Amino acid sequence: MARKSKKRRRRRTLFLGIILLVGLIGYFTYDIINNNQKKLVKLGYSDEEIRIIIDHVSIKDMKVLLNDEYQEDYLEIIKDNNFKQNMMDSYIDYYKKYNDALIKDIVYLINNNIDEPYTKTLSEMINNSDFTLSNIDKYLNYHKQNPKADTVGIILIVNNNIDKPYSNSLVNIIKETYFISSKLDRYIKYQDKNPQLKSNEVVTNINSNLDYNFYTNIQNADVSKKHLILVNKYYKIDKEYTSDNLVSMDLKYTYNFGELDKDTYEAFKKMADDAAKKELYIKGRSAYRAYNTQSYIYTSYLNNYGYVWAENYSARPGHSEHQTGLALDIGSNNSEDLGNFEATPEFKWVKDNAHKYGFILRYPKDKEYITGYSYEPWHYRYVGIDVATKIYELNLTFEEYYAFFLENK
Ligand SMILES: [Zn+2]
Repeated sequence: MARKSKKRRRRRTLFLGIILLVGLIGYFTYDIINNNQKKLVKLGYSDEEIRIIIDHVSIKDMKVLLNDEYQEDYLEIIKDNNFKQNMMDSYIDYYKKYNDALIKDIVYLINNNIDEPYTKTLSEMINNSDFTLSNIDKYLNYHKQNPKADTVGIILIVNNNIDKPYSNSLVNIIKETYFISSKLDRYIKYQDKNPQLKSNEVVTNINSNLDYNFYTNIQNADVSKKHLILVNKYYKIDKEYTSDNLVSMDLKYTYNFGELDKDTYEAFKKMADDAAKKELYIKGRSAYRAYNTQSYIYTSYLNNYGYVWAENYSARPGHSEHQTGLALDIGSNNSEDLGNFEATPEFKWVKDNAHKYGFILRYPKDKEYITGYSYEPWHYRYVGIDVATKIYELNLTFEEYYAFFLENK
C-alpha cells in the first residue's frame, strides 16, 4: 500500500510540474504577443493591421517594426506575394532611401540582392517580361553608355548579346521574326544604305542575299540537305552533280520523256492522281535537266530572246533547280503551253493543294526580286510535306525559309 501511494504521489508531482511549465510558457508567449500588440497599438496600427503583422512577421522583423514609426506602406511590404521573413530591415532601408519606389519593386530588388539606386529605368527593366536577372549589370551598363535607349530595346540588345550602339532601327531589326543574329552587320549596313526600307524588308532582303547582285558571291549549294537543297542565283551545283535517285517518268505523267528524283516523282504521281479524281489533268512538262541541257537552254534563250529574258526565265547552268531532279514544270491537258497554265482550273487546284504533296510554287508573284525569276505559275519544287506546308502557310519563298530554318542547322 505504502509503495503504491508513493508512486502515485510521484506521478502527481510530475503531472503538476508539466501543467505548471505549459502554463508558464503559455503565459510568457501570451505576454510577449500581448506586449507586442500593445506596442503596435501605441505606434498606431489598427487591429486588422496588427493581425496581419502577427500572422506574417518573424520575431526579428517584429523588432524592426517596433523600433520604427507607423508606416502604412510596411503593411504593403508584408502583404506582397514575394515578401520574405527576416528581410524587413533591408526592405525598410531601401524604402526610406527611395520613397518613390514601388513596393513590389522594393521586395523584388531586396530579395534578389540588387543593390542599385531606384530609377524609372530600373523599375521598367525588372518588370519587363524578357528581363533576365543574370544580365542586370549588362543592362545598366548599356544604359549608362546609351542614356537615350529605351528599356525594351536595352533588354533586347543585351539578351541577344549584341555589342552595338543603340538605335531605333537596330531594335526594330532585332525584333523581326526572321532576324538572324549572325547577319547583324549586313542588316545594319544594308539599312544604312537603304534608309527608306522597313526593318522587315531589310531582314528579308539580307536573308535572301540581296545585298549582293545576282550571280555574285556564289557559294556551293549544300548537297547534304538532300531534298532541301537550295539552288539559286547565289548557290550553285557542280557540273557533274546528279541525283543518285533519278527514275524515268511514265508517259501517263509527262508529255515527253522525263526523269525525276524518286520521292519527287512518287509525290507528283499522287498529286496528279488526286487531281484526276476531280477531273483535273496535270502532267509534267519539264523535269530533270543535266548541266549541259541547261546550258543549251540558257544559251538558246539568250540568242533568241536576249539577256533580260534569258536571266528572268532561265537559270545559268549549275544554277537550275531542274538539275537537282526535285523540280518540275507542270502543264494542264487543257493547255499544253506553260504560258497559259495560270488560266486553267488545274492551276487553281495545284496552287492550293501542292503543299499537301510536298511541293511549293517556287517562283511566286511579287517575289521576283527575291527569287530572281519572273513569276512562274508552272514551276514546282519538291521539299516534302512538312516544309512545303510551312512555306505555304507562312507565305515565304524557299530563299527566306532556307536562311531562317535550314542554313547552319
Ligand atoms: Zn522550271
